[in-house]
Amino acid sequence: MSRYVLALDQGTTSSRAILFDRQGNVVAVENKEFRQIYPQPGWVEHDPEEIWESQLEVAKAVLQKAGVKGEEVAAIGVTNQRETTILWEKATGKPVHNAIVWQDRRTAAFCQELKDQGHEGLFRERTGLVLDPYFSGTKIRWLLDHVEGLRERAEAGEIAFGTVDTWLLFRLTGGKVHATDPSNASRTLLMDLEKADWDDELLSIMGVPRALLPKILPSSGVFGETDPALLGAAIPVAGMAGDQQAALFGQACYRPGMAKNTYGTGAFLLLNTGEKKVVSKKGLLTTVAWQVGDKVTYALEGSIFIAGAVIQWLRDELKIFQDAAESEKLAREVPDTGGVYLVPAFTGLWAPYWDPYARGALLGLTRGTNRSHLARAALEAIAYQSRDVLDVMQEEAGLSLDALRVDGGAVQNDFLMQFQADILGTRVDRPKVHETTALGAAYLAGLAVGFWKDTAEIEALWQRDRAFEPAMKEEEREELYGGWKKAVERSLGWARE
Ligand code: ADP
Repeated sequence: MSRYVLALDQGTTSSRAILFDRQGNVVAVENKEFRQIYPQPGWVEHDPEEIWESQLEVAKAVLQKAGVKGEEVAAIGVTNQRETTILWEKATGKPVHNAIVWQDRRTAAFCQELKDQGHEGLFRERTGLVLDPYFSGTKIRWLLDHVEGLRERAEAGEIAFGTVDTWLLFRLTGGKVHATDPSNASRTLLMDLEKADWDDELLSIMGVPRALLPKILPSSGVFGETDPALLGAAIPVAGMAGDQQAALFGQACYRPGMAKNTYGTGAFLLLNTGEKKVVSKKGLLTTVAWQVGDKVTYALEGSIFIAGAVIQWLRDELKIFQDAAESEKLAREVPDTGGVYLVPAFTGLWAPYWDPYARGALLGLTRGTNRSHLARAALEAIAYQSRDVLDVMQEEAGLSLDALRVDGGAVQNDFLMQFQADILGTRVDRPKVHETTALGAAYLAGLAVGFWKDTAEIEALWQRDRAFEPAMKEEEREELYGGWKKAVERSLGWARE
C-alpha cells in the first residue's frame, strides 16, 4: 500500500525533496544548494547536470531519512523554477549548453527587435505575456544562434528543449518521455493560451523549430514512470507545474476569485480566474494555472520585485536589527510610522507600474523619526505593494476576493499579516503547512493516481493556522493608502536621464 507522495521542488538556488502523507503533512524534507554561474553582468546560468544530480540526491536522501521504500511512493510531483531554458541531445541526454536562467537578461536586444517589428500586441494577446528576456522563447533563440551547428541539428529533430520540469522528467524516465505541462509551457512566449498548445505563427516569428518542443500534457496525469534504477521502483511521475502555479494549487485556490500571495525575497500574487483568460491592460501577466483532465484553469499574475528583501536591506545595509523577525518587535513599538513612507523601488518597480527608472524613496521624515518608524514603514510597504497588485487584479478580472491565502518566509510576521488585512480590507488566511509549492505538486500527482479522490478532498485538508481579520476603519485605510500612492509618484522616473 502506497502511503506517500514525493514532491520534487527544483528552485533557483536549491533542489528540495519533500515527502507528504495522505493528510498533506510533511513527513521529511531534504535540500541541496547548487552553483549559480555568472558568465557576464546580467547573465545567469546553471549546470543542468548539477540540477539533475542535486535533485536525484535529495530524492534518494528524503526516502532514506523517512525509511520509505520506492514502492511505498504512490506518485511523484515535480515543481520548478520557471522559464529557465535547457537544450539537450535527444539520443544521449547530454545538454548542449548551460541552462539560461529566468533572471538572465542577455536577450534584451532581441526583445526590443521584436517590439520594433510590431509584434508586442500579438504576443500579449496570444500568450498573455510581455516581450521580455524573462521568458523562455528568446533564450531558445539565443542558443540556436550561438551554439555552433545547433540550428541544423534542431531542425533535424536531434535536439530537445525543456524548462526544468521537462528536463527532470526526461532524466527521471531514463530518457523515455519528453513532455511539459501548460503552466510551464505558458511561460515560453510560444504557447497559445486559449488552445494550450504550441503556436506556429509565434514559433516562426521567434525562429524556433517545432521539432525541439516537448508534448504538452495535463498538469495532473501520468507523464511516465521513473527508471527503477533511480529510486528502487518504477514510480509514476504524475504531476507537474511551475512553482507559483503549484503554490496556488497547494493553497487549494480552486475557485475563481481565490488568490494567494507568496512573501519571499519578492512577492508573487496569483488570482484564479477560472476558465476565463483575462488579458491585462495594466501590466499583469496571464498564465495557465493548471490543466486537470481537459479543463484548463487560468490565472492573473503580478510580481513584486522587493518584498522580504526590504527587511534584509534594513538588516544588512542599515543594520537597524540583526534578525528579520525583530522588524515586528520594532514596528509594534510605535502606533504608526508618523507619516513616513518607504518605497523600496531599489531596481525600479514591477507590477502594476513597470517603471525601470523608479528608485527607492524615504518620504515624510521628521526630527522624531526613529528606527521603529523605519521598520514599520518597510513592513507596511510590502502590504501596500500587494494591494497595488490586488486592486488591479480584482478590477481587471471583475472578481472580488473573500480572503487572501499567504505563504513564504515573511508570513511569520504577524504585524505584517494584520496590516495586510487592514490595508486590503480583506481577511488574510495563513495555512498550517508552509510548503505550499511542494504540496501543490504532490496534490497534482496524487490526484492523478487516485491517492486523493478529488479537489474537494484536498480542500478539506487545507488547514488554517490563523486568520487575520481587517480591523481598520475604511477612512483610515484609504488615507494611509493615499499617502502610499503619493509616495510612489515621487519615486517614479527618478533615475531617468
Ligand atoms: P525566498 O524563497 O525568496 O528565498 P523565503 O520564502 O525563504 O524567500 O523568505 C525569506 C524572506 O522573508 C527574506 O527576504 C526575509 O527578509 C523575509 N522574512 C523572514 N522572516 C521575516 C519576518 N519575521 N518578518 C519580515 N520578513 C521576514
